[in-house]
Amino acid sequence: MSLDLLIKNATLPDGRTGVDIACSGGLITAVEPAITADAARTIDADGQLVSTPFVDSHFHMDATLSLGLPRMNVSGTLLEGIALWGELKPILTVDAVVERALKYCDLAVSQGLLAIRSHVDVCDDNLTGVEALLEVKEKVKPYIDLQLVAFPQDGLYRSETAEKNLLKALDMGVDVVGGIPHFERTMDDGARSVKRLCEIAADRGLMVDLHCDESDDPLSRHIETLAYETQRLGLQGRTAGSHLTSMHSMDNYYVSKLLPLIAEADVQAIANPLINITLQGRHDSYPKRRGQTRVPEMRDYGINVSFGHDCVMDPWYSQGSGDMLEVASMGFHVAQMTSRADIRYAFDCATKHPAKALGLQGYGLEKGCKADMVLLQAADTIEAIRMKATRLAVVKAGKVICETPPRIATLSLAGRPETVNPAAYAPNEAG
Ligand SMILES: [Zn+2]
Repeated sequence: MSLDLLIKNATLPDGRTGVDIACSGGLITAVEPAITADAARTIDADGQLVSTPFVDSHFHMDATLSLGLPRMNVSGTLLEGIALWGELKPILTVDAVVERALKYCDLAVSQGLLAIRSHVDVCDDNLTGVEALLEVKEKVKPYIDLQLVAFPQDGLYRSETAEKNLLKALDMGVDVVGGIPHFERTMDDGARSVKRLCEIAADRGLMVDLHCDESDDPLSRHIETLAYETQRLGLQGRTAGSHLTSMHSMDNYYVSKLLPLIAEADVQAIANPLINITLQGRHDSYPKRRGQTRVPEMRDYGINVSFGHDCVMDPWYSQGSGDMLEVASMGFHVAQMTSRADIRYAFDCATKHPAKALGLQGYGLEKGCKADMVLLQAADTIEAIRMKATRLAVVKAGKVICETPPRIATLSLAGRPETVNPAAYAPNEAG
């Protein structure tokens, strides 16, 4: 039988080298050295890295690529971003949101980003974003797993119609229950919202992903309530705390009690390094806090940590390119996770950890997994992050859906080589 695709001589994220990957019927049928079989297409990876696709566990696709509409965020703060989004929402149209989202998905594919969890604001009585992103979800289904979170941006209780709209969005087909407890009027309302949202998810058999404690206030402790409700309602593994930035500023003694509770409830932790480093610490003089949650400490407790992109060219963030390697790079820098093992871990935070958080089925580079993968111009995962490596080929269901030529520069220097391949600078190291 002829294969759909055969990739020869790949290095895998776990360090295996000289591996061939056979794909047929949309699945990986073999991962082993020296496969000899006919294939509709054969790619020589030439020892470079083949990874599972990148996964973004936290994004806002209803706002993406809206930069400058209706104006720029001058202060750069979270609160001006929310205010700006409030100005933009009434003038959004379904068509415009769909067009921008599809354009972003094209970029995502070119970056090997094939699964995205996007929050969608439900604090708009017309549910324009919900209607638009449900349409986008269907359109991109052949190439991107788009998971949607019903997100009450203005607060479940602070906004009068938020709960009604959230339930309607879930009825319309939105996948996950969202929330923003630190933005409610009081700590009590925040805790009440966590309880209510978890109950909605338990009743409907859904997952939960809250914007949780996106604050520098060390007393913002809604993650504690989320862990408690997860445990109480039997939602282990199905809830996520996004941002968790207040943990950066919390008292160490309290954190030493909190982390085991998060681990015990199997709450998924999602940091958003690019956004957390720019939005947090804004009320500080010097020293300025970084605001990223405690990634290495959570890792050490066995908590599943992912990195999300959060924003690309929207009211909150003017940069971004759908590149999860840039996100991973910022993540390990901010966390000062600089050992070789740490940087490999950062790569996992943009691939297999978020795949687990999203509950993706068939994700992996093993026989029987979906034939979704990315060939990178890099020797390994550390090199991929260092160079924000070119995605040479992006494969979905055993078909190449995007290709980019390798980045090779031409030199005109007497006595020096004619070309420079940035991937040729990998260190010689064992292990
Ligand atoms: Zn967000």
